[in-house]
Amino acid sequence: MDRTKYQELVSTFFEWNQSELVKIFAELLSAAAAENALTPAQIMSQNYETARANPEIHELPGNLKDARDAIFPYFWGTDSWNNPLHLENVRGPANQASLIGAIACLLKNPNLCTDRYSQRSNELEVKAITALANLIFYHTIDPWGVFTIGGTISNLYGAKIGLEKCVPGTMKTGVYGRRIVGICSQAGHYSNQTVAGWLGIGTSNLIEIPTDANLSMRIDKLEETLDRLYREKTLVAYICATHGTTDGFGIDDIQSIRQCAELKAKEYSVTMPQIHCDAAVGWTMAVLTDYDRTRNPLKFEPGLLKMIEKTQTQNVGLRYADSITIDFHKFGRGHYPSSAFIVNQKEDLKYLARTVNDTPYFSDADASRDPALFTLECSRPAIGPYAVIASLNGIGLAGWQMLVGRSLELAERLKERLAKVEHCKVLNAGTTGPSVNWWVLPKGRNAQEIFERLERDELTAEQRQRYVKEIRHLFDKRLKTMDAALDARLGFTTSFGYCPNGHDIPAWKAVFFNPRTTDEIVDRIVASIEEL
Ligand SMILES: *Cc1c(COP(=O)(O)O)cnc(C)c1O
Repeated sequence: MDRTKYQELVSTFFEWNQSELVKIFAELLSAAAAENALTPAQIMSQNYETARANPEIHELPGNLKDARDAIFPYFWGTDSWNNPLHLENVRGPANQASLIGAIACLLKNPNLCTDRYSQRSNELEVKAITALANLIFYHTIDPWGVFTIGGTISNLYGAKIGLEKCVPGTMKTGVYGRRIVGICSQAGHYSNQTVAGWLGIGTSNLIEIPTDANLSMRIDKLEETLDRLYREKTLVAYICATHGTTDGFGIDDIQSIRQCAELKAKEYSVTMPQIHCDAAVGWTMAVLTDYDRTRNPLKFEPGLLKMIEKTQTQNVGLRYADSITIDFHKFGRGHYPSSAFIVNQKEDLKYLARTVNDTPYFSDADASRDPALFTLECSRPAIGPYAVIASLNGIGLAGWQMLVGRSLELAERLKERLAKVEHCKVLNAGTTGPSVNWWVLPKGRNAQEIFERLERDELTAEQRQRYVKEIRHLFDKRLKTMDAALDARLGFTTSFGYCPNGHDIPAWKAVFFNPRTTDEIVDRIVASIEEL
């Protein structure tokens, strides 16, 4: 081997060349900043055709600029999610405190599998989990948890604990032949399906309970379902409640769900299912739990204080969950992947525990500190803890309260404006959160009346189909005719979660995660609808 060339290679790619790195970081930062001036319509289109045909690898060793050039076309001009006109989905801009945390993490590149691989980053994970647990479970005594790569995986942990509780030993023996079900609501996230499928329970054994008009699981239907399942000798491993459904921000009443499950478990002498809470989106509302509405230190308006009062009542429900999923990369405006799975009682993690015999190369692992002994993952990134602690402390609790408060205000403003338009109907008027779901029908139609007839099942199949088509058609029409520099980009869902008489209800959708979205942008949405 040519030793000189080898030394050059090592020096270029494995030593800190600070000035070179800072220069390239500055260039990328400038490019990202310049991109902010673009409208969402100007993003560069994909070129999938040659992505597969030309997966080139350079022949000779280059330098850090080659690394930059290789990725730059896919970096520049391709993502406008920081733009305040983006309201499509539960994705907002990541905050800059999170950026500092995430970059620090990348520079150290810890692996959270065991504390030998991550040093103090593992301690940071414990701190981040405990901080989040205190917000959510409200000063709980013995919480524990881990960061995962997404809400789907965090939900998987909750379901897996339930499975082990209700059929001990499945980690070793599998579930063979037994009918085991999981339960969530009809407005629950599709990751519930993913989890049931991947756990071996089977998607057809995920029971979805209907919700009321506010997207909250119907307790009467839950009770009926548990009775039926237990009479059939079916095992119920878990109930996954949702705190903040993805489309309409429905909140399940976890206290009542727990009460109902406890009663039925006792009545049929079966093991209590795991009560897991999917708060991937909704956990962030917990920053409002302690807000003093009387002193009102942040001078919130009366309308917002009312919403906070309701939120504080709903947040109490979180304390009744055994375990919880939170996504810091959604309403938390953190970097991907920053999801956490948290149990209220550390003891519950024993259901996931393996021994060092199962994990040979962690033979010196200590079960009290080393997550690898119970996590699904082996290598595990630390972006989550770094993003969470940097964001929580950079922004501060009062900062978080302002950010969440503003999201609620913007959503409420849109709801109020839309409620005044006869051919529009706000579908999630009864939920308090950052998202709005609504119908737009052709002018001349009374959307409220049509909705009531749908709820009473008075519409024929043809009528339902026609209205669904009209709602979609008007959405597409706005998309074609809108001014990309002025009009917000909205989302569309084919079923927002409430399904009266089993009928899926489509909806237009806006999610207010971007703190730079303005009142004018909201008002312009309504104007653009009137112009259709
Ligand atoms: C987004 C979402 C999930 C899935 O989370 P990922 O981080 O995307 O895997 C689960 N539940 C709810 C309610 C969600 O909104």
